[in-house]
Amino acid sequence: MDSDVIVIGLGAAGSAALRAAARRGVRCLGIEQFDIAHDRGSSHGRSRLFRSGTSEGPEYVDLAARSRQLWSELEQETGEEIVTVVGGLSIADAGSPLLSDVRAAMDARDLPYETLDAATLRSRYPQHHVTDGDVGVLDPGTGVVRPELAIRLSVEAARRAGAEVRTGVRAVDIAERGDRVEVRLSDGSSVSGSQVVVAAGAWTSRLQPDYSVPLVVRRAVLSWFHPREGAEHRFTSDVFPVFTRELGDVTGWGAPVIDEYGVKIGLHDQAGFEIDDPAANDPEVASWELERVEAFCAAQFADLVPVARHARGCMITLTPDERFAIGRLQPQSRIVTLAACSGHGFKHSAAVGELGVQIALDEQPTVDPSPFDPTRYTHQKEAVQ
Ligand SMILES: Cc1cc2nc3c(=O)[nH]c(=O)nc-3n(C[C@H](O)[C@H](O)[C@H](O)COP(=O)(O)OP(=O)(O)OC[C@H]3O[C@@H](n4cnc5c(N)ncnc54)[C@H](O)[C@@H]3O)c2cc1C
Repeated sequence: MDSDVIVIGLGAAGSAALRAAARRGVRCLGIEQFDIAHDRGSSHGRSRLFRSGTSEGPEYVDLAARSRQLWSELEQETGEEIVTVVGGLSIADAGSPLLSDVRAAMDARDLPYETLDAATLRSRYPQHHVTDGDVGVLDPGTGVVRPELAIRLSVEAARRAGAEVRTGVRAVDIAERGDRVEVRLSDGSSVSGSQVVVAAGAWTSRLQPDYSVPLVVRRAVLSWFHPREGAEHRFTSDVFPVFTRELGDVTGWGAPVIDEYGVKIGLHDQAGFEIDDPAANDPEVASWELERVEAFCAAQFADLVPVARHARGCMITLTPDERFAIGRLQPQSRIVTLAACSGHGFKHSAAVGELGVQIALDEQPTVDPSPFDPTRYTHQKEAVQ
């Protein structure tokens, strides 16, 4: 089989890349080691926060906006809802960089938001514990994205547009030979393509042992909490926006009830131990792993039972500066790597996949790729030597 573009890994970024390639009418093949929308990588758990104004900077606001557009098109094609906009609330001490970073990123792209003082926060969002020095920033464009649905619909759209998809088979080696790239598969066969997009998430360094961007894979935990009896109406998506809350030295985030699992709550620095073999990450969660998020829940939400009702192991993949690395490592290389997780990547993944394909096909990119240039780490290393 000979393709123009081979996409390895059909999770968040890879499913989007395959859809982008197929839409361009090129011969494309997607390879996924498990099944589509599985629960063994970084993209399971029914919801991810979709922030239109992300505190990471305006370049990430652009990626999120482009992802929203791409998912809207997919929603129109399929009649399914991938993103539900419920608003997003950041709450922190008035002087916190969290608030100034969110405002700066939104100001840079002229996005609307509202600033709320402690009294207004208390009257509009009585679910939250608010102290006198707190300020809130409300971003009306934020919501919840459904990861498994987005992945499944992207792969189906890619198939409809002509993509070939192989699941249950692992890419074990990638070798550039002249003007082709050969990919050896775990079933003993090989495929070749003109360009390869690697979207292997937590497995990136395993598949590309010579990949020079140092990546660390960490365990992270997804957990859900139930409202106390009689308080269920306080946590539905019409009254309880997605939130980020700085409380002392802990930053928690969460989403309203969208299914029977309840209110989803996590901690920004909840990322646990480093994982050597992503395939061995335990889906089950030990009670000690939930202690800090349960303490956060108890301190922040009087109306939630602070004992996780459901929890799942997951993984995040971090670059050294926790920013995305998207592109080729050498100008002549035919391999484009999307090392873009870093714990906040789902909301950007549709745009990241498209960007990977635009780089592979030497197209004018929709979003400026320069802030995500993976060679910056090599340059930094050279400068130090
Ligand atoms: C607890 C937690 C909470 C999060 N919260 C948010 C949030 O609120 N908002 C947000 O935007 N982001 C969030 N994220 C981050 C987001 O989920 C990730 O950035 C995103 O899912 C990563 O997508 P990916 O495509 O890089 O990886 P994945 O979706 O894991 O895809 C990689 C795919 O490659 C496949 N693969 C790997 N190697 C091979 C191979 N050799 N051959 C074939 N297939 C291969 C894997 O099986 C997998 O399907 C969170 C992550 C975690 C863990």
